Amino acid sequence: MPHARLLSSSFALLLAACAGGAPPQPTAPSAAPGWAIALHGGAGTLDPTTPEAELQGYRDALRAALTIGRDRLARGDDAVDVCEAVVRVLEDDPHFNAGRGAVLNARGVHELEAAIMDGSTLAAGAVTGLRTVKNPVSLARLVMTKTRHVLLGGDGAEEFATGQAVERVPNEHFTTERRRRLLDEALRERAAASKPGGTGSGTVGCVVRDQRGKLAAATSTGGLTAKMPGRIGDTPLVGAGTYADAFAAVSGTGTGEQFMRHAVARTITARMQFGGQSLAEAAHAVVFTTLRQGDGGVIAVDRDGTIAMPFNSTGMYRGAADASGRFEVRIFAE
Ligand code: ASP
Repeated sequence: MPHARLLSSSFALLLAACAGGAPPQPTAPSAAPGWAIALHGGAGTLDPTTPEAELQGYRDALRAALTIGRDRLARGDDAVDVCEAVVRVLEDDPHFNAGRGAVLNARGVHELEAAIMDGSTLAAGAVTGLRTVKNPVSLARLVMTKTRHVLLGGDGAEEFATGQAVERVPNEHFTTERRRRLLDEALRERAAASKPGGTGSGTVGCVVRDQRGKLAAATSTGGLTAKMPGRIGDTPLVGAGTYADAFAAVSGTGTGEQFMRHAVARTITARMQFGGQSLAEAAHAVVFTTLRQGDGGVIAVDRDGTIAMPFNSTGMYRGAADASGRFEVRIFAE
């Protein structure tokens, strides 16, 4: 009897689910939980004794970007549009290692990189080795929408920018006194080749679940202080520092080489997809068992609007907001 068979197979599925044995099902995004957004301004060895006024400057900068994201999501804007807008604000803020305020490479030049990804289509765009594009995330988006490629680098990326409506600036536009001092210190310590990590804190990123359930992620950085010219980090590498699919959107920050080796962002969504883990379980496992202590952290949002922001460094500039009224910015493990 088909009806009886249906009932008994439903019962079997229910039993399997109760026993934790049900396979993960890719379900359509639920519209119920509403929008959610998380952003970061980098992870690293942040000093808890930093003067309060300085910390307040970071909090204000994070709050300003989060407010823009929150307001746009509340009025129904698209996840990719919001990610781009929020990352642009952070790129323009000299507190962070992206756009203006980005770190310098060993030759005293800024080489900027960024990526953006649409979780609903797996469309992605990324750029690396940029020297004159004021907002790298916007050029990444144009790579996504205007080319058949995913990642453009160096001269080719600059040439592509020339044909697009993106603002160009001289390389010095990105330099701040603080970054120049950090480069001098790093060069003095000969840190460039022997210590690839730990001096890039300030990378920015944003992950969004919009009102329609679409997920998107974007990340932008200057990389690591005193990096070798031509060094490419995890940020523009889809699956490493930036990733979005139907399960979650992830943006990472920390020692890029480690994020690349472990394909951190995609590993988090793959744990959800193939292992049936929740976002919190997957992100926690990757940050605390796959990465090494001090490597950094991620911000992530899943299709239900749940946010995870684990990090294994002393701090991570971060913020989160959602449709329930949550609105918070944090720096240390608070
Ligand atoms: N992940 C970035 C890179 O390695 C740096 C950072 O997030 O601080 O380029």
